[in-house]
Amino acid sequence: MAFQFSKSNLPKQLFINNEFVKSKNPKKLSLYNPADGSLVADDVDLADENDVDAAVGAAEKALPAWKRLTNIARRDIMLKFASLIEQRGKELAELSRITLGAPYASFGAFETGMCAEAFKYNAGWIDKFAGESFPQDDGFLKIVRNEPLGVCAGIVPWNGPLGTVGLKAAPALATGNCFILKPSEKTPFASLALGPLIIEAGFPPGVFQVISGDGSTGALLASHMRVRKVSFTGSIPTGKRIQEMAAKSNLKRVTLELGGKSPAVVFDDANLDNAVTWLANAITANTGQVCFAASRVYVQEGIYGKFVSAYKKALQEKTKTIGDPEADGTVMGPLIDKAQFDRVSGFISRGQSENQGTLLTGGQRVGSQGFFIEPTVFENVRPDAEIITQEIFGPVAVLNSFKTEEEIIEKSNNTNFGLMAGVFTENVNRALRVASAFDSGMVGVNCVSLMMMQTPFGGTKESGVGRECGKDALLAFTDRKTVMVNMNY
Ligand code: NAD
Repeated sequence: MAFQFSKSNLPKQLFINNEFVKSKNPKKLSLYNPADGSLVADDVDLADENDVDAAVGAAEKALPAWKRLTNIARRDIMLKFASLIEQRGKELAELSRITLGAPYASFGAFETGMCAEAFKYNAGWIDKFAGESFPQDDGFLKIVRNEPLGVCAGIVPWNGPLGTVGLKAAPALATGNCFILKPSEKTPFASLALGPLIIEAGFPPGVFQVISGDGSTGALLASHMRVRKVSFTGSIPTGKRIQEMAAKSNLKRVTLELGGKSPAVVFDDANLDNAVTWLANAITANTGQVCFAASRVYVQEGIYGKFVSAYKKALQEKTKTIGDPEADGTVMGPLIDKAQFDRVSGFISRGQSENQGTLLTGGQRVGSQGFFIEPTVFENVRPDAEIITQEIFGPVAVLNSFKTEEEIIEKSNNTNFGLMAGVFTENVNRALRVASAFDSGMVGVNCVSLMMMQTPFGGTKESGVGRECGKDALLAFTDRKTVMVNMNY
């Protein structure tokens, strides 16, 4: 099957058992372009119970042979898939952009690159992800095997439509599982367009499937008795529901990558330009719709005045880059849709009307059509205000000053989130002290809101359960099996 998809030929059917099939469900998904609010499609398949069962059935059928495939053969399929994603990166990014609004240069290229890289990275692990063995000093040879779990599902959000696919599908497939992907109802096209690439790479039918749908499809997967694992990225309320469904069905394994309200702490001795650059980028990348965006900024008293003017200027410069996501030079696109625009605007207007803090910059809609909004900062924010306690998921940051290290560690950790934190200082001892005191899954020192393929990615507290990336991701898609061999006769 040749790759034929584009803006004018969108994939709208389910990809099951290496074929595009039309769902019999009369309910369909409707998608809109956030740059102008226009309808993109209103006939995209929404997978129902029959479709989910068909995908699970095909995956179960494919599983024994896929598990037994040699490491080399599986690695080569994964590497070929990675290179096909690279070749088709621009087209795939366009298929996301049409409903997400993220420009290629500032986000699409990163996102598709991350997906390809995840397949390469995990392919490289395939023949190195060995188990363990312990000698027969006591008469028993002990062998520990990493066994695939079986049929696994990935439920992903709209803000990283392909990057999140790589983080889940690649380790699942590398470890011999079959994988069913459920993209967000707001960004299904790039995921569905993987179909022809899955075939061309050589994945056998049923090994890697894509079913579009909404929360109801996700719930069918999370509560399915023959799905053995759900790896989920999305909001905390949905994550909690998924964990509950997993427990109530078959105790399937669950990985949860959830929201954040990440603090960044800038000490008096920090390199000001470096801190401002990272923090302005962190809250505007993908128009602030990033789980680990540094959205709570704390700056020590001695540097506060200088920081405020430089941060404000940097964000006002970003405002100038807002525009049509299709145009060269646009860095910031719109928010994804009206619901997200209303949500972010609601936080901004309540922040002002309820005096939650003082508006330092931004706060306005940009243009009269589409869902564009200025990068916005509130300063001197009350500690109980919703703009400092809740995830806004837009280009909105809060900025407060602080006096001491003790005070700021307490404030940074006074939240139920724990995804990312950043510390900016030239003092290496303080950097390491603060990094260890942060209660979060990831910490940047003189950087923030970034991730690496080799190292664990995920959050503490309500920001998640489990880790993606690195060896942790492979362990999360396997169960350890102990084999004890009696050597006594
Ligand atoms: P969401 O929870 O609304 O939806 C995420 C996915 O879950 C979608 O595919 C959706 O269809 C599905 N879903 C919805 N209800 C479901 C249900 N009852 N059962 C099963 N599946 C269901 O989240 P979103 O709005 O798409 O994404 C934004 C959120 O994702 C933010 O909170 C953000 O912080 C978080 N996020 C986290 C990470 C991370 O790695 N920690 C990365 C990106 C986004």
